[in-house]
Amino acid sequence: MISVAIDGPSGAGKSSLAKRLAADMGFTYVDTGAMYRAIGLYALRAGKDPKDNDAVNALLPQIELRLASIEGEQHIYLKEEDVSTAIRTEAAGMAASAVGANPAVRAFLLELQRDMAKKQDVLMDGRDIGTVVLPDATVKIFLTAAPEVRAMRRFRELEQRGTSQPYDQVLREIVDRDYADTHRAIAPLRRAEDAVELDTGALTFEESLHLLLETIRRRAKL
Ligand code: C5P
Repeated sequence: MISVAIDGPSGAGKSSLAKRLAADMGFTYVDTGAMYRAIGLYALRAGKDPKDNDAVNALLPQIELRLASIEGEQHIYLKEEDVSTAIRTEAAGMAASAVGANPAVRAFLLELQRDMAKKQDVLMDGRDIGTVVLPDATVKIFLTAAPEVRAMRRFRELEQRGTSQPYDQVLREIVDRDYADTHRAIAPLRRAEDAVELDTGALTFEESLHLLLETIRRRAKL
């Protein structure tokens, strides 16, 4: 099996690039951030503070998380409900970051993620894929861009969706999330020693896609 691990901070373009790459290469795309978001959403809906590890841990046995690919698109389910859209709010993102610092949540998802990589060729994106989840991944990529660039991309995306927020607020949220993700005790966001670091700051989407594809092909000898 071939596995490609793509890690990096929020807004570096991981998921949109990984989605396209997986489709082009015929790999299964696994968005691990969506899994943390689904658990964060579940905690919020249950009226629990996502930062309260004990409260979240008590919910874990009831959480039935499932991923399915429909017409090439990854969908995520909590029991029978498709929560793929519901997890995309800022609140769910912050809740994801909070539950991501909880060791029991990480252990719960680790098993699911490794299992997926055993059964098929995957392109998995997240924060700890190259360092913790798939330390023997065929190719590891660390995708970055300056916080201001990532905030501007996110700002435009929100504007297009008709849910615009002031740029300063978007930037602050990006900086806060970076800090939380890189400073947590368990599985902090960092580049694996054997990962290729790519900065997409000055590149368009198509240029980034091309660079990633070339890097993966070269490293995986495809
Ligand atoms: O990538 P996305 O923004 O959807 O991830 C949401 C949050 O989930 C991140 O800020 C991070 O705290 C957490 N996460 C994680 N480990 C991963 C993927 C996401 O801790 N592998």
